[in-house]
Amino acid sequence: MNIYNIINSKALGKANSKDEIEFIVNGFVNGSVPDYQMAAYLMAVKIHSMTKEETYHLTDAMLKSGKQIDLTKINGICVDKHSTGGVGDSTTFIIAPIMACLGYKFAKMSGRGLGHTGGTLDKLDCIDGIKLDLPFAGFIQIVNRVGCCVMGQTSELVPADKLMYALRDVTATVESIPLIASSIMSKKLASGSSIILIDVKYGAGAFMKTPEDAIFLAELMTDIGHRAGKTVSCLVTCMDNPLGDYVGNSLELLDSIEVLNGKQSNLSKVALRLAEELLHCCGLNSDEAKQKLKGCIDSRKALLKLVEMVSAQGGDGSYIVNKDKLAASKNQIKILAKSDGYINYDTVKLGMANTMLGGGRILKTDTIDHFVGIKLEKSAGEKVAQGDNVATVFFNESCQFKRAETMLDEAITVGAYEEPGKLIYALVNNDGIKLL
Ligand code: URA
Repeated sequence: MNIYNIINSKALGKANSKDEIEFIVNGFVNGSVPDYQMAAYLMAVKIHSMTKEETYHLTDAMLKSGKQIDLTKINGICVDKHSTGGVGDSTTFIIAPIMACLGYKFAKMSGRGLGHTGGTLDKLDCIDGIKLDLPFAGFIQIVNRVGCCVMGQTSELVPADKLMYALRDVTATVESIPLIASSIMSKKLASGSSIILIDVKYGAGAFMKTPEDAIFLAELMTDIGHRAGKTVSCLVTCMDNPLGDYVGNSLELLDSIEVLNGKQSNLSKVALRLAEELLHCCGLNSDEAKQKLKGCIDSRKALLKLVEMVSAQGGDGSYIVNKDKLAASKNQIKILAKSDGYINYDTVKLGMANTMLGGGRILKTDTIDHFVGIKLEKSAGEKVAQGDNVATVFFNESCQFKRAETMLDEAITVGAYEEPGKLIYALVNNDGIKLL
């Protein structure tokens, strides 16, 4: 096998074989294929794309580069859910306890936020004492006993993705749909659940800017799952605007808790539709699923399940029932509308403003302030008058407030009405594409 020929084939727009793809991935992980050859291959993939077969072989080669989690010791149906990333997107804290309440097992390995997007682990880190680096046996024990557990992804999972992602990040090759599909699916398959639901975001604040690209990504991921013998379903949802009413770690956790307390919002609509789809994958019809979801929210059983999960992971469960514990920093400033008109959000800039307040990281090694953030006082597209309070910013003295303020000025504007994308756009699974 010759690495030059493999790269050249892709550069000429031809498909690579399974063996060729394994050769380049394994070589990159063991060091025999240098960065510059992998970078050339990734760029050729970005330009010429990949067939479904190639994308599956790439995913499989990446998956086999590391450990795979064995969930066979978990009793019952094990489900997982993943979001391709956004702002104010904290559906895991709603779906995990709901699925556990309904007798399913939710075993999730999550990541931290980087750049403008938030990370599930960073939000959980707001809770005093919570352990997110559990030993694997402890993780399984909690899933079996409580029904749900969320921990950090171990570094032994899919080392090929870690290496390839770092290279993609600096070679303008992140935005390739087959590379994104194989990156996400290799990690999901390695995490071991048999039913995987993916919230594929589209819109201004997402990787995929159009619903068509999001559907293409969803189709590729569904196909990979099918070939790997797993049930994969994708819901394509809008990330033109932040999903919840808050941006920031403790605030977003609080927003999810409010949904478990019965609050209705775009966050609740998407989270409950995702949960409905997971229940559908587990064999329930839509009416049964909706009734069960309503039951575990109205009875507060899902809320109490989240308390149970947090406590089982060593955290202080009172953070879930006592709102004051997750209250944001005391310093606050109100942002007022500069004119009459309609509210428009720039979601990426809102996420970056939170990062500048100290709530996110630019580098993986940055430490973050969990209790800063932004409360959006108005919905996207809402009519406001000059002087109306459109957002409240919570900050600490040590942050780069001036830079955050400039970013917020660009992130929250008042102007002409802009129609947001459809919140829940499509369902993509083995049966095909269904526009919703
Ligand atoms: N999320 C991932 O895990 N990988 C990508 O390539 C993009 C988003």
